[in-house]
Amino acid sequence: MKLVWFRNDLRVRDNPALFQASEHARKNYFHSEKSKISGVIAVVTFCPQQWLQHDESPSKVAFWLANLAQLKLELNALNIPLKIINGDLFSSVGSLLLELAKRYQCSGLYVNQEYCLNEQRRDDQVEALFKQNGLNVYRCHGDTVVAPGLLLNQSGKPYKVFTPFSRAWRSTFLANGIQLFPVPEIQAPLNVESDPITLAVDFFQDRSMGFDQNTWSAGADVAHQKLQDFINTSVNQYENNRDYPSLNATSSLSPYLTIGVLSARQCIAGLSSYSEGTEWVDSQWVTEIIWRDFYRHLMVLFPQLNRWEPFKPEVESRIVWRDDNYLFDAWCHGETGFPLVDAGMKQLQKTGWMHNRVRMVVASFLTKLLRQDWRKGARFFMQHLIDGDFASNLGGWQWSASVGADAAPYFRIFNPTRQAERFDPKGEYIARWVPELEKLPVKQRLDPMSGHLVGRPSPIIDYKLARAESLEIYNAY
Ligand SMILES: Cc1cc2nc3c(=O)[nH]c(=O)nc-3n(C[C@H](O)[C@H](O)[C@H](O)COP(=O)(O)OP(=O)(O)OC[C@H]3O[C@@H](n4cnc5c(N)ncnc54)[C@H](O)[C@@H]3O)c2cc1C
Repeated sequence: MKLVWFRNDLRVRDNPALFQASEHARKNYFHSEKSKISGVIAVVTFCPQQWLQHDESPSKVAFWLANLAQLKLELNALNIPLKIINGDLFSSVGSLLLELAKRYQCSGLYVNQEYCLNEQRRDDQVEALFKQNGLNVYRCHGDTVVAPGLLLNQSGKPYKVFTPFSRAWRSTFLANGIQLFPVPEIQAPLNVESDPITLAVDFFQDRSMGFDQNTWSAGADVAHQKLQDFINTSVNQYENNRDYPSLNATSSLSPYLTIGVLSARQCIAGLSSYSEGTEWVDSQWVTEIIWRDFYRHLMVLFPQLNRWEPFKPEVESRIVWRDDNYLFDAWCHGETGFPLVDAGMKQLQKTGWMHNRVRMVVASFLTKLLRQDWRKGARFFMQHLIDGDFASNLGGWQWSASVGADAAPYFRIFNPTRQAERFDPKGEYIARWVPELEKLPVKQRLDPMSGHLVGRPSPIIDYKLARAESLEIYNAY
């Protein structure tokens, strides 16, 4: 018997760990007496205390559970039972997994790697324990298109800058192509019952666990349909439209990618099957998927990032963050008086998602203008995002605060009013999330000084002054 441990890879298609386990089980079956039981058992571990420590948002946990229910149906169709272990913390899952493996006489454990440090340490501990007990552990790569560590520069060192990384990524990809792992064959039924999935983990029950089920329906079929629709209708216009938050011009696939209902490899393969030649590999949408890979590579190659350390400590050492709860709270609640910032934060609070351009604007606002520590903003994002992903989130925040790998230069400070004029010129996005402002003519809707006319807060900072102070601080060597 083979045990497959699902984590943020809730899919049966293009799942290397599942596929390999199933192949090994089949081979064992043919090589041994056919009367012996052989097959795959799936397991997930619930670790609510750990999730809380990792700032997992209630909406992300709820979305993960809803997708787990869909995965269970897909596994059932393959006769693969799904077992559930309640472990609370990562440190407690090893012995529980081993107990399960022994109970069902499993000879191997199969996982797709997760690249952040706590997850790697958890897997190291589990692997050591399994090996001590004579069981095999197979750690596969299924989360990125190019596995972390594979791309090094000519001196054999990790890339620290995105553009050369993306060049290497593209040429590696073109040289190797992509082969997705098929769904495993249906196995003979095992005499093992699946466990029921609690629809709400007790610990999270008191917190609002909801997510918008119309926007984010669960299941791989939904994710694949969304991918297909995006490729059919929007990907060609992505580069031109992606920065306008009032348009639905981006794929909105991030929640599915974050918990692995869809793989980054499937996104790339989907685009490739639609396109001719190789030009599509240079498209902007592929670049975004490469950013996702880049941040995962950095997590593995620069483990200090996992401890919330900046990629560029020499820049951060110049900055004295202001610890001001009044400013931070105003930002969290979308009450800064700056229309685009407030619209973004209200979108986040109401839906658990925010458009990328607006993420950049609100993050720049918090770090560069309110001068609050980027870690506070990053944690708040994780606690609210349905697509909260440690690597991408950390990368985005460090980029915004100019302390990350290939970050925005320190003097790039988004002017939130100018950003609104450029990317939401009719104030449609703003009016959607801050409806009071809809009553104002467009010009005033975008202007922080007009908000008081409809009962909105006045701007909490003087933009020009805050910008000048910030530049002085970042510039001080
Ligand atoms: C401050 C900040 C925090 C962020 N936090 C997260 C996060 O927690 N989780 C997350 O998935 N993304 C995060 N991002 C990246 C980006 O905003 C989202 O991935 C994107 O908005 C998701 O929308 P989409 O699926 O429509 O993306 P699309 O534009 O359609 O892009 C396709 C996919 O590429 C990946 N991607 C796109 N842009 C980026 C990027 N800049 N960095 C890394 N991957 C990217 C995502 O997986 C995305 O789903 C953050 C960005 C910033 C500036």
